[in-house]
Amino acid sequence: MTRIVILGGGFAGLTLATHLDPLAAQGKADVTLVDRAPHFAMGLNLQWVFAGRRSPQEGQRMYASLRPRHVRFLHDEATAIDTARRSVRTRSALLPYDHLVLALGADLAPDLVPGLAEGAYNLFELDSVMQFRDAVQRVDGGTLLIAIASMPFKCPPAPYEYAFLVDDALRQRGVREKVRLVLTTPEPQPMPVAGKAVGDAVKGMLAERGIEYLTGHKPKAVDAAARRVTYENGAQLEYGLMAAVPPHRAPKVVRDAGLADASGFVPAELGTFRAQAPNVYAVGDVAAIKLPTGSPHPKAGVFAESQALTVARRLAAEILGGEHEKYPGQGTCYVEVGRNEAAPAEIRLLEEGGPTARIEPPSVNGLELKRRFETERFERWFGG
Ligand SMILES: Cc1cc2nc3c(=O)[nH]c(=O)nc-3n(C[C@H](O)[C@H](O)[C@H](O)COP(=O)(O)OP(=O)(O)OC[C@H]3O[C@@H](n4cnc5c(N)ncnc54)[C@H](O)[C@@H]3O)c2cc1C
Repeated sequence: MTRIVILGGGFAGLTLATHLDPLAAQGKADVTLVDRAPHFAMGLNLQWVFAGRRSPQEGQRMYASLRPRHVRFLHDEATAIDTARRSVRTRSALLPYDHLVLALGADLAPDLVPGLAEGAYNLFELDSVMQFRDAVQRVDGGTLLIAIASMPFKCPPAPYEYAFLVDDALRQRGVREKVRLVLTTPEPQPMPVAGKAVGDAVKGMLAERGIEYLTGHKPKAVDAAARRVTYENGAQLEYGLMAAVPPHRAPKVVRDAGLADASGFVPAELGTFRAQAPNVYAVGDVAAIKLPTGSPHPKAGVFAESQALTVARRLAAEILGGEHEKYPGQGTCYVEVGRNEAAPAEIRLLEEGGPTARIEPPSVNGLELKRRFETERFERWFGG
């Protein structure tokens, strides 16, 4: 029987497990899903926790209640990958494979910018987000800085969404006029892959709310004691409160296995998602995938699951015979803009002539669609 090992039970790993479950049920494949966490955590819930709309637990589901019943779940950490012997070592087991799918997401590495861990809250880490939320509730003046440390990072709209939610929180407390709210980024515009029209729409919303926006600003170091950021372009900014999207890189286990390249991620071929080692695939945030234009494929849950679905179908076709569909390279993000609204943005990455994107005006219904995006996935992967 074909042995398939999936490392990581996030958007990509859960999609693979769900779509390979029928193969496992028919006895055509032996499928193992490995995750070091006891539960899946929905990324977008971090922002709802920040906004005070949700508890952390409402965005989590235990792997013990996985819907795919014929896939073996191993709660363990992958510690070594041997692509020559085709096996994975975890803390408790040795897993030989015929096909290995890397769906390990990205690790956050604030230590790559000196002083960042000490000087800034981490917008992508639950405990830090809750501390930042409490700190924002105490702000009554000064500069509040949101900084994107480097590219790539998961969920390209996320830092902008945080800026809008911070703006909301300060307005609700009646202190917005006293606070200078600044967003800095190394990017040339918001969500660069989505193109100028989407970038201009987001910039317009920042300007309308009085949020200062500085592009081409990559933090070089943070002086936590002096509360000052120095950027690679020579600029300096003093802040009272700072939160950041830290640098990302592939988890250590894949870097140690020599599977990552200079980008810090695992190079994989667009469409097949094959990594450089035989019978190894990389999907989602762990992968470095180039679009036909040469730009990096954006990292987001909606793309991670679509890549995973493509790999699941390719594997099923290989085992059962038959055709498989091509990777569509499209997805919709619901850009949260505060005021209980979101703007659906549809991105098509593989259009002739390069990616295209369309953003709808923000609406209450847009936020409802974002809630539904989450509910559908919980239903699909955990039965609710
Ligand atoms: C604030 C925020 C908001 C977001 N909003 C959206 C949104 O609205 N829409 C959207 O599409 N995306 C959104 N995202 C992005 C989305 O969460 C990620 O792009 C997505 O989770 C990537 O899926 P993945 O399967 O590649 O990795 P992940 O979902 O990160 O899963 C990786 C898994 O691997 C496990 N793992 C890592 N190392 C090991 C190891 N050594 N051994 C075993 N297990 C390991 C981890 O525990 C984790 O469960 C958001 C992200 C954030 C932070």
